[in-house]
Amino acid sequence: MAAIFFFSLPAHGHVNPTLPLVRELTSRGHRVLYYDVEAFREKIEAAGAQFVPIDAYMPPAPEDIDRRAGKDFASLIEMAADLTLSLNERVAQDVAEHHPACVVGDSVCIWGKLLARRHGLPFICSTTTFAFNDQSARLMKRQPGEVLRMLLGMPRMARKLRQLREHGHDAPDVISLIGNDTKTPTIVYTSRLFQPMSETFGDSYAFVGPSVMQRYPRRPHDRPLVYVSLGTVLNNAPDFYRSALQALSGMDCDAILSIGDAVDPAALGPVPGNVCIYPRVNQLEVLAGADVFLTHCGMNSVSESLLCGVPMVLFPQHGEENAVAIRCEQLGAGLRLKRPSASCIRSALEAVLGDDRYRRATQTVAEDFARCGGAAEAADFVEAHF
Ligand code: UDP
Repeated sequence: MAAIFFFSLPAHGHVNPTLPLVRELTSRGHRVLYYDVEAFREKIEAAGAQFVPIDAYMPPAPEDIDRRAGKDFASLIEMAADLTLSLNERVAQDVAEHHPACVVGDSVCIWGKLLARRHGLPFICSTTTFAFNDQSARLMKRQPGEVLRMLLGMPRMARKLRQLREHGHDAPDVISLIGNDTKTPTIVYTSRLFQPMSETFGDSYAFVGPSVMQRYPRRPHDRPLVYVSLGTVLNNAPDFYRSALQALSGMDCDAILSIGDAVDPAALGPVPGNVCIYPRVNQLEVLAGADVFLTHCGMNSVSESLLCGVPMVLFPQHGEENAVAIRCEQLGAGLRLKRPSASCIRSALEAVLGDDRYRRATQTVAEDFARCGGAAEAADFVEAHF
C-alpha cells in the first residue's frame, strides 16, 4: 500500500471533487496526506486522509481578496510561488518520512507540481474545472478588466518565476505550470460530452465524471423550487440578492438563497414569504428538490445541477465560469441571464421553468454523467501511475 500526497487550493470548489477519490484510495488501504488550510480539515479527515495544515505557510491574503479571487491571475501566481518556497522544507521532511509513491495536485496548485518535480515524484494532475489547453482556453473569453490585470501582472509573474528558479525549481514559464499538457496524467471531474473540445485531449486524460460525496433521492414537492447561489468565493453581492428577492416576490414558487457569510441578510430588505435565505446550504440536498438553479456557473455547482437533472439560469462572473456557461447553453441545459435586474431574473427563471426542453437537455447530460467511471476510475488511474 502506498503513501500519496494531495495538494489542493483552499477553496470548496477545488477540494470537494477530490474527496470521493481520497475516500476510494484510503478504502483501498493507501495512506493519503492532504495539504490544505484548517477550514477544510473536517471534510478532508472525514474522507479518510491524514490532514496536513498549511495555514502557517500561506502568504497573507490581499485585503480585497473577495473582489479579486478567480479574476487576478498574477496574484494567484505570486501566492502560489510564495507558498511553494515556504512549504519546501516541510514537504522535504515529509517525503523523507513517508516515501510517497506519487503526488496528486490541483491543476492550478503550482506548489504541488513544483514540489513533485523537485523530489522526482510522479505527478497526477487533478482538474476541477474544464481541462484547458490552447484551444479550449479560448472559450474563457476573459472580460477586459481580467485581461488588463493579467497584462499588468506579467512583470510580477516573471519576477516570481525567477525567484523560484533561483531556489532550484523547474519553473520555465507560467503556461507550463498552469495549463493542462499532453504528457501529465490528468483526472478531469466531468465527462467527455460536457468537456468542450474533448477530442483535443488524448489518452493521458481520464474524464471520470462529476465527483460528489453523497447523492440524495429526488424530493417530490407541490410548487416549483428555485435555488439561487453565487458559490463560496465571489458571493458578496447584496445588489444581486436584492434583485433576486424582488424577482421572486409574488412568483408561484418557493425559493432558497445561499448567500455566503459576507452579506448580512438583514441588509437585503424585506424577504418575501416564499423565500428562505441561508449563509450556506447542503447544495446537493437542495438540488434534489429544485426545478431551476440560478448559478454563477462554478464548475462544481453546474456539474451538481446537471447530475441532479436541474436546468439553470446562467450568471457567470469571470472567464472560467463563462466557458462553463457557454457549454451549458450549447447543450441546451441553461439560459444566460441578460442582466442582473429583477425583471431579467424573473423572466429567465420563468422561461426555464416553463420550457421542458431545458429539463430534458439537462437529463441527457445527467445520463451521460451516470455512465462515467467516477472515483473508482480515478483511483485506478492514480494507481496506474505510481
Ligand atoms: N456549496 C455548498 N453550499 C452552498 C454553496 C456552495 O455546499 O451553500 C458547494 C457546492 O456544492 C460546490 C462548491 O460549494 O461543491 C462550490 O463550488 P463551485 O465550483 O461551484 O464554485 P466556487 O464556490 O468555487 O466559486
